[in-house]
Amino acid sequence: MKRNLKYDVVVVGGGSAGIAAAIGAKKSGKSVILIERSSFLGGQATNANVASYCGFFTHGKEPQQIIGGVGQMLLEKLAALGKYNGYKISTMGNAIIPLESESLKFALDELITENEVDVLLYCTLIKAYTKENKIISIECIDDEGNLFIEGSSFVDASGDGNLAYLAGAEIVFGNPGGTIQMATSVMRIGNFDMNLDLSPEVIKKAVTSAKRDGFKNISKDSGIIFKTESDGFAILPSVKVDSLDCKTLTACEINTRKQAHKYMEIFQKYIPGMENCTLITTGPKLGIRETRHIIGKYTLTGNEVLNAVKNKNSIARGAWPCENHKKAEKMAEYMWVKDDDYYDIPIDILISKNISNLWSAGRTVSSDPIAFASVRVMGISFGTGHAAGVGAAYMAEHNDINVQDIREELKKQGAFI
Ligand SMILES: Cc1cc2nc3c(=O)[nH]c(=O)nc-3n(C[C@H](O)[C@H](O)[C@H](O)COP(=O)(O)OP(=O)(O)OC[C@H]3O[C@@H](n4cnc5c(N)ncnc54)[C@H](O)[C@@H]3O)c2cc1C
Repeated sequence: MKRNLKYDVVVVGGGSAGIAAAIGAKKSGKSVILIERSSFLGGQATNANVASYCGFFTHGKEPQQIIGGVGQMLLEKLAALGKYNGYKISTMGNAIIPLESESLKFALDELITENEVDVLLYCTLIKAYTKENKIISIECIDDEGNLFIEGSSFVDASGDGNLAYLAGAEIVFGNPGGTIQMATSVMRIGNFDMNLDLSPEVIKKAVTSAKRDGFKNISKDSGIIFKTESDGFAILPSVKVDSLDCKTLTACEINTRKQAHKYMEIFQKYIPGMENCTLITTGPKLGIRETRHIIGKYTLTGNEVLNAVKNKNSIARGAWPCENHKKAEKMAEYMWVKDDDYYDIPIDILISKNISNLWSAGRTVSSDPIAFASVRVMGISFGTGHAAGVGAAYMAEHNDINVQDIREELKKQGAFI
């Protein structure tokens, strides 16, 4: 049986950006469908063990919240479940929101249902149909076969620019200079003394001793172990992902899982208090920081981010430091936003340069390598996602955009701009 659906706004990807886009478009009065290939929402927060929201606050002594709107709606939901009561300060001095993935999955189910967004899990985008530089419909697959979804405007919140790629939008894989951020398999670990000092210096000492004793084929010399109340997340086994084909990804998954088991041996053998430490889970998927970027009408620059530049066409704010995971063996390099201020995110970085009804959100937005190192985090992805959804809804109605009208609607929906 042929299955055909029709919506004003079609959102691909149910991570931070896609959820915000779908709810933003719905609150703008449009019919919306959100498709997600996993069995749950949340994106990398739930499918790659990424256990904290970064980017909701500015840096500094008195962090200010810069993401509202749909992001704030989720924080309220988590607070009602007893899973959010303000930010915590991370090892690097940033304001972050620790997450517990099962509560997050549940909160997102509730949020999306209460906002009456139609959502299809287990639904994978496989093809896009275009006419005169516009996407007309997409084709998706589940275990019963194919389904077709027509739309007026489309949001690519797939993290990897999958819709843009299939629609023939201008994209770049990594960066023109050949640089790309490393991928990391985040290890959830348990059964260790929670009072232990697990600073990067302690990890470095353990890895150095292990290498001296002949441990091989591990990437990072040191890394972060982020402690929660009852367990921890070790951010160490890393790899370069230079293609999204299944052969490459299979090799990367096997490589980093192997590394995870070696790091476990190192923790158990070289860090007193971790002798009985256990690996609870990796992933379930490898955490991929960077692949395709959609080339927008404008590209956000590192200069604008680092100098906290403001813009009259702003549709969201960012303040996370530029956190660049350049090398598999090294920890991230940080560059800080001037005066602990925020920068503005102009609307044109969300709109495809050559496919007129395609919006990007989250980690696919048009940004140079330095700007990307900041704008990619999940708090800011809620901001760009919300704006892309409201923009796509406006475009579905007017077949055009008016930035000031979109800004007004975003403000009405509680966004901080
Ligand atoms: C190891 C690691 C650590 C990180 N640490 C942090 C951190 O501590 N805090 C933080 O805020 N950020 C962190 N980040 C960055 C952050 O996780 C991502 O940049 C963020 O998740 C981007 O959000 P998104 O919604 O754009 O994409 P994603 O979260 O990647 O979501 C995209 C969604 O689209 C779906 N999808 C993709 N293709 C298809 C398709 N064809 N059909 C249907 N669905 C599809 C995917 O299944 C996924 O659910 C980290 C990233 C990594 C890899």
